[in-house]
Amino acid sequence: GSAPASARDLYRSPVQNPLTHSSHMSDGQRYNSPGLYSHPIPTKTPLHPSPGQYNYGGSQNVSQLSNYQGPGQTLNRAPVGLISVAPLQHTGSSPQMPPPSQNSAAISSAGSFLPGTNPPALSNWQYGQTSVSQPAGSQTSHFAHVTGAVPTQPSASSSGNTNPPTSYQYAASPGVPPLPNSYMKPASTHPSPASQNLKMGRSVGYSYPSLPPGYQNTSPGVPGMQPPPMQYPDGPQSFHQPALGTNHLAASMGSLSLQPEGVRLVNLLQERNILPTTPLQAPIPNLHEDIQKLNCNPELFRCTLTNIPQTQALLNKAKLPLGLLLHPFKDLSQLPVVTSSTIVRCRSCRTYINPFVSFLDQRRWKCNLCYRVNDVPEEFMYNPVTRVYGEPHKRPEVQNATIEFMAPSEYMLRPPQPPVYLFVFDVSHNAIETGYLDTVCKSLLDNLDLLPGNTRTKIGFITFDSTIHFYSLQEGLSQPQMLIVSDIEDVFIPMPENLLVNLNENKELIQDLLRTLPQMFTKSLETQSALGPALQAAFKLMSPTGGRISVFQTQLPSVGVGALKSREEPNQRASAKDIHLTPSTDFYKKLALDCSGQQVAVDLFLLSGQYSDLASLGCISRYSAGSIYYYQSYHHKHNPVQVEKLQKELKRYLTRKIGFEAVMRIRCTKGLSIHTFHGNFFVRSTDLLSLPNVNPDAGYAVQMSVEESLTDMQVVSFQSALLYTSSKGERRIRVHTMCLPVVTTLSDVYLGADVQAITGLLANMAVDRSVSASLSDARDALVNAVIDSLSAYRASVLSVQQPGLMAPFSLRLFPLYVLALLKQKAFQTGTTTRLDERIFTMCQVKNQPLIYLMLMTHPSLYRIDNLTDEGALNISDRTIPQPPILQLSVEKLSRDGAYLMDAGSVMFMWIGKNCGQNFINQVFGVPNYASIPQNMTHLPELDTAESTRIIAFISWLREQRPFFPILYIIRDESPLKPSFLQNMIEDRTESALSYYEFLLHIQQQVNK
Ligand SMILES: [Zn+2]
Repeated sequence: GSAPASARDLYRSPVQNPLTHSSHMSDGQRYNSPGLYSHPIPTKTPLHPSPGQYNYGGSQNVSQLSNYQGPGQTLNRAPVGLISVAPLQHTGSSPQMPPPSQNSAAISSAGSFLPGTNPPALSNWQYGQTSVSQPAGSQTSHFAHVTGAVPTQPSASSSGNTNPPTSYQYAASPGVPPLPNSYMKPASTHPSPASQNLKMGRSVGYSYPSLPPGYQNTSPGVPGMQPPPMQYPDGPQSFHQPALGTNHLAASMGSLSLQPEGVRLVNLLQERNILPTTPLQAPIPNLHEDIQKLNCNPELFRCTLTNIPQTQALLNKAKLPLGLLLHPFKDLSQLPVVTSSTIVRCRSCRTYINPFVSFLDQRRWKCNLCYRVNDVPEEFMYNPVTRVYGEPHKRPEVQNATIEFMAPSEYMLRPPQPPVYLFVFDVSHNAIETGYLDTVCKSLLDNLDLLPGNTRTKIGFITFDSTIHFYSLQEGLSQPQMLIVSDIEDVFIPMPENLLVNLNENKELIQDLLRTLPQMFTKSLETQSALGPALQAAFKLMSPTGGRISVFQTQLPSVGVGALKSREEPNQRASAKDIHLTPSTDFYKKLALDCSGQQVAVDLFLLSGQYSDLASLGCISRYSAGSIYYYQSYHHKHNPVQVEKLQKELKRYLTRKIGFEAVMRIRCTKGLSIHTFHGNFFVRSTDLLSLPNVNPDAGYAVQMSVEESLTDMQVVSFQSALLYTSSKGERRIRVHTMCLPVVTTLSDVYLGADVQAITGLLANMAVDRSVSASLSDARDALVNAVIDSLSAYRASVLSVQQPGLMAPFSLRLFPLYVLALLKQKAFQTGTTTRLDERIFTMCQVKNQPLIYLMLMTHPSLYRIDNLTDEGALNISDRTIPQPPILQLSVEKLSRDGAYLMDAGSVMFMWIGKNCGQNFINQVFGVPNYASIPQNMTHLPELDTAESTRIIAFISWLREQRPFFPILYIIRDESPLKPSFLQNMIEDRTESALSYYEFLLHIQQQVNK
């Protein structure tokens, strides 16, 4: 049961305790203050499992840092400071920072990301130098020459992924129970490398054939194919096999399709139009249909390799990272919720029963993670959906990969906490200047009744400049009472009982305060910011209950603990060297860990035009499982479009679902091991994340390795379990389970590669590398990831060497996506990127679900001056056009057209000079190109078909995401045009290679 040695070695996270899985339960008690409860966290491997009583001890280990007692912990001092006193001038310098300690840190110091690989010599890498010194013309002509050799634009029908998006079903399906001996599709779906090469010879130079991608078997199969013999990994018993349905037969027959697109070889240098015109779908795991239809939605749970390599050696050979990407608390329209006094879990490893377990008979089930045989409890024999007794395999728990349980009392050691929301506002002169307080207070007033909660909801407010101001909202007061504490060296809480009050019972006082607050400081000349002391005060106020702190900050904190100094050197912005990506103090991290220990999360809203050291400030959210929002150059008058963005995003923030006092554990089949986590949280033990708050917009990533060979295993499973308190005070557990096949050959590993998940995981790893080593090191490692994997493919899978740059179909977009990462704000060099902006983008990489990470990395470009209703979506009486996605190159732009670039948190609409007068008229309501206003950020709603279509499309894109992308409408001479062109990933810029040049560079390295 102890953590494997390599996992321990890789662990440099705050959790350093090597006794993670030992029985040192008493250690855990130190984590929480006496009287408060410890989380009921089921252990990975309880030492003495017994039914009905869970052993939570092993996961309660404490890190050194979580025991840290911050300054100003004296809570019991008498409140004396109701009258404002002149603030003490803080003269101390900020503490020296220790070596940066990463929340996730499993990357070896040199070369490549992948465990067990030898880094290629960095001298091979001449990306930056060559690009700058090359004469622009030569490359362009070379490119033109090669493009000329390629067949012209393919027809629309052959140029894209025409496969309809897969739909996923959450409702209990009446399907056949899982068949444990037939997880995988029976036949090999790929020809031998030799035949691949023959086929490749024919397909070179062509774009997308019209065959569906992946391993979908749609062509008629060859009859006579038999399913493989029954095989049990390590189970001594076999059991009666339910009769195979017609589906099974169809699958086995269909699996012999001769040339599925997935095994196609792609010569990247010859395939100019590599980007699909519809959003790229996640690969479908090569499992038997009856299993696959029960599998987890890839939007929630996804693996970089949908074919899991049997051994670490095989994984090392593939030079691809193995890991999971999760969006565990995503808003779902359908979610089965089980209320049952018995939650059926494996007695050995505590896995929740799921669609991929096997029933040996009606009374026994075998765990798919540890293979222990468990009894089926009597209660589980009854199926509440069908109301039939004796069908345990048809229970919703066994028919749904995503399910939520109402947790019975053993999952709580104190009553579930009430929702508590504390708002902390910067009211220094600088803050008041921006005018943000007005917007925030208005949004709060508008959404006060929509805050998730119930009659127990509590709310409170703190404001600060060089002093800290509390607001008593005590019942019976005629108006809120402001209490000023000027001793920021040793912050205490005056009248703690009246500062966090019941929302329903004190609504009028609260509304009163929100209406007056924006005016209260308009005459303030106080420029200092005591953010650190204010956060300490907030922490103290929240400690007894836990909850959410929302802090709004507009500048560099200047006084008290946590004060910071500017570290940005504007003339260094373009360089990859000596930039300050690490925190300058550990104050914010330590405070965040204190918060985490008391079930408090801190969300940071940074609204600032000047450098505010987000690298340091961001730690307060990162380690307390909070969110970070950044509004660069926020000003209510000078930058009005930001006001709308803040309003929209605050509405989402204030009203979205929230889970309190949460923990998340990820389990996987014996043999696999998780070693690094990415996201905002505190790692409490090797597989347990502490999430004081969980929100539906947060994504997570984990890296894994193959600890022990997965010999004789056909499939492996992964399960995430998120235990949280809902805003209504229920303890709930949301469980996702994913099942994937195990493969033994390198070509199968490549066949199942999920290029988006790989890109997402590499981006997370690159953020860590940027911080722990350097930006240029991270960039090298990203490029090496492409070189290494394509070299390995060439050396080990291709039996006949081809000219060109060969990639398996699954990885055809890998170089493009990595190039996109290199040009993304987090990792780009050679262009001016403000330090805080870069850090914020890195925070987004770490905390966003994969779908948004991909969009901000590789934006979607659409032509929009010729939208039609053909292929449009119809959603509640609205017709949403679905234009094809274009490659990100100015080559694709015509001066006759208009284009929309959707980069996730920002959109650009570019209008060509010769764009049709009619279109300009119908969409902008102006007579011609010249009269389109400069700095336009809104489209007028006109009563024309063109206007309706475009507005429907843009609104639909915006509705899909939790943040509000600003729309910039730009003409040729617009000052924002460079930002638009910056996203043209495939084109060369002064400091970065074009896609084709990048491919040539990769080819050179691969063919070495
Ligand atoms: Zn188990």
